[in-house]
Amino acid sequence: MASAVGEVWVFVETARGASAEGLELRTSDGAVSVAGRHAAEVSLELLGQARVLAERLGVRTGAVCAGGETVRALAPALIAAGADTVYLAVHEQLGEYLAQPYARVVTEAVRHFQPQIVLYGATTTGRDLAPRVASALRTGLTADCTDLRIGDHEVKGVEYRDLLYQIRPAFGGNIIATIVSPEHRPQMATVREGVFRLPEPDPSRAGDVVELNLARIAGPHEGHNGRPTAAGGPILLDDLDFAVSLVRRTREDKSVDLKGARVVVSGGVGVGSADGFGLLRDLADTLGGELGASRAAVDAGWIGREHQVGQTGTTVRPKLYIAAGISGSVQHRAGMDQAARILAINTDPLAPIFSVAHYGIVGDLHEVVPKLIKAYREKG
Ligand code: FAD
Repeated sequence: MASAVGEVWVFVETARGASAEGLELRTSDGAVSVAGRHAAEVSLELLGQARVLAERLGVRTGAVCAGGETVRALAPALIAAGADTVYLAVHEQLGEYLAQPYARVVTEAVRHFQPQIVLYGATTTGRDLAPRVASALRTGLTADCTDLRIGDHEVKGVEYRDLLYQIRPAFGGNIIATIVSPEHRPQMATVREGVFRLPEPDPSRAGDVVELNLARIAGPHEGHNGRPTAAGGPILLDDLDFAVSLVRRTREDKSVDLKGARVVVSGGVGVGSADGFGLLRDLADTLGGELGASRAAVDAGWIGREHQVGQTGTTVRPKLYIAAGISGSVQHRAGMDQAARILAINTDPLAPIFSVAHYGIVGDLHEVVPKLIKAYREKG
């Protein structure tokens, strides 16, 4: 079957940032911030991958972004990150993310412009929004992809060309599944932060900005329950879309920056206790790194969930990753095997972690780690 046409889109998540009015900032963690709003780093990572997919398909990329007036200022940064067209939904009531009106805007924009692929960050927002859009459009959605590629697929003698391969671990990580949506469009996936590299911004890139035609109307309009907006007409946002309002927003500052760390020292079940993590913290502090953990150590209550590395934790790419007392399950490796250098410390010489480690020490971490700390401190 012939390949579909249509752009490759990314839903760009924005949040209130800390930059001064009118100032464009590229923060140390790579997020782009303009006029007090910033585009989430995962959205920029996805724009980079969207470019790769779009080039393979010979189509354009699109970034769809909703917000208040300030969101317009993000367009040049989104084009520099890889968007050929930025689709903006601007309305004062879209200033903060709300599931219902955002889902309506994205759904109607997709109906109108018919992209063949739409990607979302697997964030709280992306996980809330993407299933609503998928359900409204009667299409599929693969959550938490760890890779996205383009390829062909054959079912019962019918060949489908240029499908989106939505790749993710399945059945508890025992297999890597490639999921396709041969018949339904758009093909949609959520992807976790850090899976794709942040693209280098190219300020010389040219792109278009299309402002979506929105109309805020009173009361429920007759097309509210899933029926599309009239072809060519404005996207209607009615009172039912705003039945839920944002009363208060509280934000806890991140105390752990695993993603930005050059060195991550992670502990697992082999650490043995919450106190045991004190030793690993000493090593992390000595090396100027962050403290990570396996999910089993987190589940044991020895360390907070914000430290978890892996498929359901953070994906890290540090210069050095030290795995102490971690067996190296496929779910853990999914979050750390892209580190430039991996040092594994484990009493079991057959532990799977050694298969991805560049350096291995077979031994008790309670003996090895103090020696490492001493050696690094002596070296200064
Ligand atoms: P274990 O597998 O028990 O390994 C402990 C290791 O410590 C062993 O290799 C042992 O030889 C070694 N050891 C013991 N004592 C010492 C010592 N004194 N010195 C040195 N070595 C010692 N896990 C994650 O980590 N991150 C995830 O994001 C994640 N997501 C998951 C998602 C799903 C859907 C599922 C099903 C599982 C997920 N898991 C995840 C869990 C994963 O499958 C493993 O259970 C977990 O990673 C095991 O943690 P561990 O290596 O610390 O423990």
